[in-house]
Amino acid sequence: MQQNVERIVIAGAGQAGASAAIELRRAGFQGGLVLVGDEVHAPYERPQLSKEMLKPGEVTLRAMREEDVYETFSIQLALGTKATHVDAERRRLVMEDGTHHDYDRLLLATGVRPRSLPDADARRVRYLRTVEDALQLREDIEQGHSIAVVGGGVIGLEVAAAVNARGNPVVVIEAGQRLMMRSVDERIARYLDRTHRGRGVDIRYGTQITSWDASGMLTLSDGSRIQADRVLVGIGVVPNTELVAHLDITDELGVRVDACGRTALRDIYATGDVASQPGAGGFARVETWANAQDHAAAVARSLMGDASPYQSPTWFWSDQGMTNLQVLGNAMQGTPVLRGDEHGDRFSIFWLDTADRLTGCSAVNSPKDMAMARRWIRQSAVLEPRLLADLSHPLRDCLALAGA
Ligand code: FAD
Ligand code: NDP
Repeated sequence: MQQNVERIVIAGAGQAGASAAIELRRAGFQGGLVLVGDEVHAPYERPQLSKEMLKPGEVTLRAMREEDVYETFSIQLALGTKATHVDAERRRLVMEDGTHHDYDRLLLATGVRPRSLPDADARRVRYLRTVEDALQLREDIEQGHSIAVVGGGVIGLEVAAAVNARGNPVVVIEAGQRLMMRSVDERIARYLDRTHRGRGVDIRYGTQITSWDASGMLTLSDGSRIQADRVLVGIGVVPNTELVAHLDITDELGVRVDACGRTALRDIYATGDVASQPGAGGFARVETWANAQDHAAAVARSLMGDASPYQSPTWFWSDQGMTNLQVLGNAMQGTPVLRGDEHGDRFSIFWLDTADRLTGCSAVNSPKDMAMARRWIRQSAVLEPRLLADLSHPLRDCLALAGA
């Protein structure tokens, strides 16, 4: 690292910010290191908010790391105050309370926030991003409220499954014609529709809320009416970029970075959900646990002068009741090969390019298929589609060629 980098400030004390801070120390950064966050909690991981925290029984928030890791690694945690402005000329992060943090290098890890539903009844509407949101929703469930979920994406479906498992009435209202439109193919959407409905979740497609009666009734755009004491909205997110809006480093998705996490400004980097990252299909926000962990660690090394491009296929999982869904790489494009019975309880879809090279996989209750797909994608493996589609052939025998 260049001599003049004595102080690194990280804006956003979430998963990516914490991962980067710890990696900076592991990689030998000895200067001042400040992790600034507007939440009052030490960094924590969000997947628990829509899963464990909505289950019955005692509730505890698991911190991402033991709190003394920050002391051990001399990472100064500055929590409970929002950063409002980056003064790039003076290299200064300005805080809401009037204080500031000077930096030699700044890492933006401010994440995203839920997109809000226009004209919603503020008393009944809920979002899910923070531990406070999860506790509020948990209380709603415990009070026996009926819940409408707007959005048939990951938040909507995980919450619908959790509410249903607690015995409360739940309806999913999805504007599009199927579930998880952006991240899984039709067959998985059909499987999810069947399993959620089979457990008693009501799902309405192609419709939206048009009015909220004080009595708890909702009127939908298709004219139907449903009773919902609370409405949980999961219709996507917006990036937290306001603090750098005046700098020319954002695009319509977030803070634009190159493959090493560098923005157009020499001393400013970005990672995690807020980053608009280059990938095979162009720039995208990668809103996953794995990206917050691994991209952040790679960008930390980049801050230290190791400019190796970050290359890792996107991976996420989603637990929806008894269903474990995992999606790796590009699982929407190319030639899909189904392995297993899409009408059963476990199957996988392998995605091949024109040379039969594996580029992506979605696995329903099939973690072993996912583990193999992960290895094969790393190896740029070419597969034998006919064997892959035939369950009588062990998966490992479907490899035509490894390591192109
Ligand atoms: P965050 O974790 O959001 O951290 C950003 C932090 O910066 C926040 O604390 C924010 O308050 C703070 N901040 C923002 N602006 C400012 C500011 N101006 N000043 C100071 N601080 C600021 N992914 C999966 O792969 N699998 C899952 O099962 C899964 N489940 C999820 C469940 C839920 C309910 C949610 C919300 C997300 C889930 N995710 C899951 C996604 C995953 O949690 C995110 O991709 C990850 O948290 C992104 O990390 P981040 O650090 O970029 O953002
Ligand atoms: P998603 O983008 O996954 O899903 C939003 C869904 O809402 C889409 O199906 C979208 O349809 C639909 N929608 C949009 N507008 C409306 C509307 N007005 N009425 C009804 N439906 C609408 O976002 P989420 O909100 O589910 O997730 C938010 C964040 O949480 C993401 O960053 C995600 O990564 C994270 N998360 C991840 C989890 C995981 O990976 N397991 C679990 C929980 C959260 P269309 O696509 O047609 O616009």
